[in-house]
Amino acid sequence: MRRFCILVFSLLGIYNAYAQVDSLSVVADTLALPSGSDIGFTMFARGNGAPVDTLDVGDRRIRIVLRDDNTWYLIKNVEALENDELFTTYWSEHVVNPYTKEPFDSIHYRTTICLVDSVSSFVCPHKGKVFSKYGIRHGRPHTGCDVPYPTGTPVYCAFDGRVRLAERHRGYGNLIIVRHENGLETVYGHLSRIDVKPGQWVHAGDLIGLGGSTGRSSGPHLHFETRYRGHAFDPEWIVDFESGTLRKNVFVLRRSYLSAHSKYVPQSIDEEEEIYMTEEQIKAEEERIAKERAAMKYHTIRSGDTLSGIAKKYGTTVSHICSLNSGLKPTTTLSVGRKIRVK
Ligand SMILES: [Zn+2]
Repeated sequence: MRRFCILVFSLLGIYNAYAQVDSLSVVADTLALPSGSDIGFTMFARGNGAPVDTLDVGDRRIRIVLRDDNTWYLIKNVEALENDELFTTYWSEHVVNPYTKEPFDSIHYRTTICLVDSVSSFVCPHKGKVFSKYGIRHGRPHTGCDVPYPTGTPVYCAFDGRVRLAERHRGYGNLIIVRHENGLETVYGHLSRIDVKPGQWVHAGDLIGLGGSTGRSSGPHLHFETRYRGHAFDPEWIVDFESGTLRKNVFVLRRSYLSAHSKYVPQSIDEEEEIYMTEEQIKAEEERIAKERAAMKYHTIRSGDTLSGIAKKYGTTVSHICSLNSGLKPTTTLSVGRKIRVK
């Protein structure tokens, strides 16, 4: 998955290089697949020209198609993921949570999940106001969001992926669980009709069933869950159901979210730091800063002070003092009262 993300980031680089040409001719269009393309590919069209060539990017899941007007688009084949560990391990067509043997401690404190990128999109299963939220409800965990859903309303798949389970399941009624290449699973409950089969590859926005009120349900609604390695987390961390949009493209899932006691709370965090720093890096960085601060020593310049004299006094060197104080050189005239760092 990491390699896949890196690939997509490098494709974004190619996109930027073409962006200027591209922006002149971007229109929403619906070109047919270029001849010879495998079934299962999704297109992400930019520009209007006719397809003239296909570039192999070293990963059979993605290809770049060039057009005769110097524009390009990406195509993706989810079926190429067939042998990926994600779709072969902890895979069950009848068990809602096949991860029960995996210890909770084995999940990282924070997991970075690419929700969407230039080849993976999101479609909200249904736009609407969540009327029953994720969390503890009447003393019992409610592991998803309930959205009003007139019986017969289409249910759309949220992300690209593979259907893992599609059958009736006690309280859930008619249930569909889809595993996605971003590592998440989405769960769709109380359906009146199931239109997919286990093992089937689906794209974001594909019709997978119809809304209903089967199972333990007080009226037509969609029970929607987001799960990571079998554990549900509040879908509102990633989806704004009222606008039908994702809150972010890259989601940092904290292990603490994987509990019915952890509801979504809007927050402002330094996303870049969240995404690119590991637990170990943050811990090491904080320890380094604390240690450095504890060891810092300053000297206030007095009349007659010289850098070499100060260095001698504190058992250090002139060049080290200079390296600790930006702009300070061995030749700098020291003004009385100035504070310089000596350690
Ligand atoms: Zn529910």
